Amino acid sequence: MSSNNAPCNKFECKICGKIYKRRSGLTRHAMTIKEANSVKSTIYDLPEKAIEETRQVLVYHIKERLKQHSKHVGNVHIMVNCTESQFFGVFKGHIHNYYPRTGNYKCIFKGVDSYSTLSHILGDDNCGAKYFLQHQKTFVLTYQLPSNPSNHPDPLQKSCLYQESDPLQEPDPLQELHLCQEPDPLQEPDPLQDQTLMHAARKQRTRKPKPIQIVIGWKRKSKSDVRNIVYSSGFAFINFTISRTKVVDNLY
Ligand SMILES: [Zn+2]
Repeated sequence: MSSNNAPCNKFECKICGKIYKRRSGLTRHAMTIKEANSVKSTIYDLPEKAIEETRQVLVYHIKERLKQHSKHVGNVHIMVNCTESQFFGVFKGHIHNYYPRTGNYKCIFKGVDSYSTLSHILGDDNCGAKYFLQHQKTFVLTYQLPSNPSNHPDPLQKSCLYQESDPLQEPDPLQELHLCQEPDPLQEPDPLQDQTLMHAARKQRTRKPKPIQIVIGWKRKSKSDVRNIVYSSGFAFINFTISRTKVVDNLY
């Protein structure tokens, strides 16, 4: 991560990763974030109890996606009915983007503190974790150590694969590479196939892991019929990654 005193003078927003050449660019960015968190004319004040209920609804829908089986891990996208005022009531102060043209909002939670920030916002320490038998925990992945070579969303599944899978069934990228470097001289070389293999091998080597983050936003969906009669509703959407692990604790 670059910082403000990097030799090449790059100014980076630590939340969204946007890089500015000048400090003034980053300052302007900070101003728009501040603006995004200011109360809009479309927002009305809700009693704290109503905001608390909205938090509980969001937590409910997140936790409903945390399941025991490995097929439920990975990236998920959920949408929950939510008014703009409810969304603003919960996330004010943490909004990163506001799009005046559409009236949509976006928050980004990334980095080592993201889970504690989100737990604080949603008022629930277990908002992103669910426990199952055999010490299994399924949780919202919010941060991975940069040194961690494994970026698999389901380490349990991965170790299981390593132990039980048939290596003959797994495609070996090294072997593919070998094939395309040393084609059988007796066979007619198929340039197209070679290219495909090369491409596949290269793709496998350079695939970049997606950044681990939680994106929560709000948007209005509007629809209309043939008579142009419009109907609409607001939604909170949440994009996150689900992972699983074994918990070792002294409760049992
Ligand atoms: Zn930013």
